[in-house]
Amino acid sequence: MKNFERVQPRSWDEAASALAAALKSGKSAEAKGAGTELLDRLKEYNLAPDQVVDLRRLSSHNSILRNSSGGISIGALVTLSAVASGLRKDLPALADACEGAATPQIRNAATLAGNLCQRPRCWYFRSSEFQCLKKGGVECLAKSGENEFHAVFGNNTCAIVHPSAAGVALVALNARIETLAPGGGRTFAAADFFVRPEVDIFAENALKPGELVVDIHVDRLEGVRSAYRKIKQKQAFDWPLADAAVVWRETGGVARDVRIVIGSAAPVPWRAKAAEALVEGKRIDAALAAKAGEAALEGATPLGKNAYKLPMVAAVVRRTLLASAGLPDGTEEHR
Ligand SMILES: Cc1cc2nc3c(=O)[nH]c(=O)nc-3n(C[C@H](O)[C@H](O)[C@H](O)COP(=O)(O)OP(=O)(O)OC[C@H]3O[C@@H](n4cnc5c(N)ncnc54)[C@H](O)[C@@H]3O)c2cc1C
Ligand code: SF4
Repeated sequence: MKNFERVQPRSWDEAASALAAALKSGKSAEAKGAGTELLDRLKEYNLAPDQVVDLRRLSSHNSILRNSSGGISIGALVTLSAVASGLRKDLPALADACEGAATPQIRNAATLAGNLCQRPRCWYFRSSEFQCLKKGGVECLAKSGENEFHAVFGNNTCAIVHPSAAGVALVALNARIETLAPGGGRTFAAADFFVRPEVDIFAENALKPGELVVDIHVDRLEGVRSAYRKIKQKQAFDWPLADAAVVWRETGGVARDVRIVIGSAAPVPWRAKAAEALVEGKRIDAALAAKAGEAALEGATPLGKNAYKLPMVAAVVRRTLLASAGLPDGTEEHR
């Protein structure tokens, strides 16, 4: 790891100014939440910033607030464990996504913003020995190489899978992500926060250099059902092979405003629009959930070594739909 200067700001404004000042003076600088992902990259020589701006101990944007209209705001520094325990009743899809991520030790430290902004786990990207497209090289090495854990949708340019489980749930919940930067902050729909490699090969989100995530907002969800499920090779200390979040509004016994988002399958949390259209306006049962699972595969472009993921995507969409409707999804005994 290269030596770096640790900057300990006293406020979010000071943190944003420190990042802007470093970038303006030609230094490289990175924000740090709990550092569970950032420090890995520093140690692996994937990144060698001159400064690390430590947000972890800031005394605001670190709690979950409910506003008078029933909306929920989650501060950037809220840990994955706190999201899981604090929002189980309100937002089960997000609580389950956070509860199952990584390990208990990581979840107790990792921040929600850090989870959303973590970089991909593609082994060619992480290794200092490879110079792939995402690092300024000429080709995606995974497409012709070892791609068993890579994307089966939207993989034409770069075949990473977006690593954030919380992002899958937040896109399904149509959440908003608020940022802070010296020139003023912005608010993104979660779906617009994550960007495809065709938009920016060097980034996975729309943040400008030095811009910080400060809050995540979810509007009041009257009569809304939600669920998140995943399939993993190992039950602990592992990444999903496929995961999904489902959100819909129960109206007259049928599902309305259906949003089905697949994770671990594309460079961004991936809306399964054909499956959404199939379920819209219907009562969810086992037969419909199975058909929706198959419909979720529309547009899939598996690579040489990852076609095995397709039945997993279909299964995880089916199970998540069933869980969202309160029906047995077959994973109960493992939970
Ligand atoms: C074995 C293992 C299994 C894992 N499994 C999963 C899993 O199943 N699902 C999952 O979602 N994750 C998984 N993770 C990843 C883990 O959840 C992340 O490491 C963690 O969420 C990152 O949070 P952090 O606060 O430590 O981020 P940091 O390491 O501090 O930061 C990560 C990135 O976010 C940026 N950043 C941090 N805060 C902000 C901010 N406020 N604004 C802008 N940028 C910011 C940093 O600059 C950095 O680029 C796994 C990790 C391990 C090691
Ligand atoms: S998937 Fe993306 S990060 Fe991985 S080798 Fe291809 S271009 Fe690089």
